[in-house]
This record gives sequence, C-alpha cells and structure tokens, in this order.
Amino acid sequence: MPPAHPFDDDKLKEECGVFGVVGVADAANFVALGLHALQHRGQEAGGIVSHCPEDGFNNARRFGYVRDNFTSQSLMKTLPGPLAIGHVRYSTAGSKGAAIRDVQPFFGEFSMGGAAIAHNGNITNAEALRKELIERGSIFQSSSDSECIIHLMARSLQRNIPERMEDALRRVEGAFSVVAMTRTKLIGVRDPLGVRPLVLGKVGDGWALSSETCALDIIGAEFVREIEPGEMVVITAEGGVESLFPFRKQDSKFCIFEHVYFSRPDSIIGGRSVYETRRQIGVELAREAPVEADLVCPVPDSGTPAAIGFAAESGIPFGLGITRNQYMGRTFIEPTEQIRNMGVRLKLNVNRALIKDKRVILVDDSVVRGTTSRKIKEMILDAGAKEVHFRIASPPTAWPCFYGVDTPQREKLLAATMSEEEMCQHLAVDSLKFISLNGLYRAVGEGDGRNSACPQYCDACFSGEYPVAPTDMLQKGFKLKAAE
Ligand code: SF4
Repeated sequence: MPPAHPFDDDKLKEECGVFGVVGVADAANFVALGLHALQHRGQEAGGIVSHCPEDGFNNARRFGYVRDNFTSQSLMKTLPGPLAIGHVRYSTAGSKGAAIRDVQPFFGEFSMGGAAIAHNGNITNAEALRKELIERGSIFQSSSDSECIIHLMARSLQRNIPERMEDALRRVEGAFSVVAMTRTKLIGVRDPLGVRPLVLGKVGDGWALSSETCALDIIGAEFVREIEPGEMVVITAEGGVESLFPFRKQDSKFCIFEHVYFSRPDSIIGGRSVYETRRQIGVELAREAPVEADLVCPVPDSGTPAAIGFAAESGIPFGLGITRNQYMGRTFIEPTEQIRNMGVRLKLNVNRALIKDKRVILVDDSVVRGTTSRKIKEMILDAGAKEVHFRIASPPTAWPCFYGVDTPQREKLLAATMSEEEMCQHLAVDSLKFISLNGLYRAVGEGDGRNSACPQYCDACFSGEYPVAPTDMLQKGFKLKAAE
C-alpha cells in the first residue's frame, strides 16, 4: 500500500494502528490482514504477537509494509494460536527510522504469566515516568514511550494482568488506545478522553479490536461498537466481554483530525461515515468561502471527498485535474539529487487538457509547512490555469500535536507565524481560505458548532487548547497559548 499521502514531509502523520483477535483459529493471519487495512496509520514497521497453549507466546517484528512481511507462509506459521495482537507504526515518540527493539507489540513476563501490549497514541509524561522508573531499577529495552506501560505493570502489586494494566495506565497521561493480550485474554483500553479511536468487532465465534472499522471489514468482522473513552474491555477465549471503567470520568476529547485526514474514508467514527463527514466539510467550506471558478479539483487523495462536497454545494464542476502516481516508492527518489529535486512532479501530474485556461479551486485537507502547496500551485499554473484558489478542509494548523501525531516544531508550521492573508501571499495564490473551527464542528455533526467553554473534541493543533497538559514538553520549555 502506498503512503496515505504522497508528501511525507509536508503532512501530519498518524503514529500507529493497533489490532487484536481472540477466539479464531490462526488469529495472527486475521491480525496481519487487519494491520494491512490500517497501514495508512503507520508504514515504518509492524509486529505481531500470538499465543497458543502448546507453544506459548511467539512474536515477529519487521520494518516495512505488512504486505511485504506478514504474507509469508513460513513467517505466519511461527505465529500459531487463537489469540494475537499487532501494531503498525510510524513513530513519534522514540527514535525515528530506528531499531527493531522499538517496534511493537512490547512483551513482559510477570509472575502470573506474560503479556504483550500495542499502543496507539502518545504518553505526554513518558520522560518523567521513564526517569522515575530507571531510578527505581527498571531496565528499558527501547526508546519508545509505550514501554513505560510494561514497566509500570511490572511494579504493580495487583494480582492479575488486567488489574496491573489499570494500575499502570492510571499513572500515564496523554493519549492511549491500547490492545493487549495475556495467555487467555484480549484486552482493549482507551484513555479517559478517548483521543485515539478503538473499536470492537465480532468475527465468527471470536472478537476483534481495531483502531478503525475498515480493518474489521477486511476480515469479515461485524462492527459491534466503539470502546468508550475511559473503558477497558477484557475478552476471554470463551467469548465473554467484560467492560470496566477504571479511570475518573472526564469529558471526551476525540481527535477531530481523525475525521479530516487520519482515518480511512471507508471507516465509521462516532456513528458517521468518515467519507460523508469529509464531503460535508467541503459543503461547509463552499458556504463559508465561495469563489467564482470553472473547476473544483482535489489534491489527491485525501482532498477528494471535500472537493466533491465543495463542487456539489457550489455548482462548480468537479474534475480530477491532478493524478497521483500510485506506484511511486520512496526508494526511487533517494539515489540522486537531480531526481530528488523533481519532488512533487514525480508523484503528481497535472491533467493539462482539463486545467488549461480554467480558474481552478484546489481542495486540500491541510497546510502544514506549505512547501507542497507552493509546488502544486506552480504545476497548475504551468499547465495553463488562469487562476488558482486554495480551499483547505481544516482550520490553520498552528500548534503541534502531542497525542500521537507527528507534527513539525511550532515555528515550522506555516500558520504559527502567518495570518491567512500572509499565507495567501506567501503561497502566491489568487485566494486561500481554511474552513473555520465552527464550520468543521458543524461538518462532524455538531450543529451548533464548537462549544468554546468545553470543546466536544480535541482540536489543540488548531486552537492551541490542549486537553491534557503536555508535561514533558512544558519541561523542555514549550509555551502554552496562555503563556504567549
Ligand atoms: S492536537 Fe490535533 S492531531 Fe493531535 S489529537 Fe488533537 S486534534 Fe488530533
């Protein structure tokens, strides 16, 4: 599967996807398929841990795409059993492009048996926890924030693994959707704010946990429900699902950017189709920022549903003015400087016959650094467009994310240092408009827009209002909005 977006350096990147299955023969095969469907959430590496009564725990962790590793029969035969979990990662915390020891799931051996965990999100007090744990004798194997959970579990005095997980996760701040397993149980937990997604599915006589519903579809599982913010589910091989709420209840703050960009358009979030939400974002954008033009054109692929909505609402024809080369691997662009400089043109090509002499509205999901937007604008003008108008399906990204999404430092975000007007001049386009925060809230189903007293979602990368204090970053000198 190609990366979710062709411009790896100018997009926010989701950190991870998690998946687990219990109660089916050869669960690892299901997990491999699930991870394949979640590949857009992390392309750097993947891992699977399985358990069977005869062989105990087995694991395989590999760099690269799921399809290149977990399709080999010889490898999958080493992962037998009716219980397995898996993880695909990009990486925000821990080292990038790093060692295999940073690839999850992580495994710990406890007095009551082993346990493996796979974590999506980011622990915002991981450095403080790691320091404390090392001082008390823990020996870390990786540079990942997620490993703290295993060490905290090891230090817990509780009698069983789910209770030890509860203990550990009560010490953890930030965002976590965790899929874990013992010898006999599949466990899923979401942080009290429910920042990252996690869903429950039924597959035959067994159960599945997944970051997104699209990965349930691929294994023929039925989507049952979302794991609620602050909920822990403990599922046994016999099919019992126990639901617990071990954390102090808080208002949910699901990541609103999952709707805009991270999740796959064929997933369901909060009972809504992601595709339909994105189309609705385009409708709102057309109402908020109309412009006279001849063609609405998406920046592929993530801008497509919003462009369809924009075109429908504005009555301006929709056209695929830009084609993406589906087979453009990263390795090809590495050998020479000359080829590297071709950059965006290697990955995207403009349909000149469609663009020439037109006033073009380009719909993209976000502007991060703005480098790609500039290049695309040049390509469109080179193809003979008369005007270029950018319409962006998210508000200006002016703040970094500390909850499991890779964002550049604040000063590298175009919107952190420029107003909309200044960005328009910087990109040298005829107009540039972002959807408002209220418009985005309406598009995700909040008819009255954003409740500024208690926002219904996490929108910190747009608003600068962080629902959980980024403890480690504050210690490193990061300044919150109120302190600016
Ligand atoms: S800061 Fe932005 S990307 Fe990060 S969780 Fe919040 S809304 Fe999502």
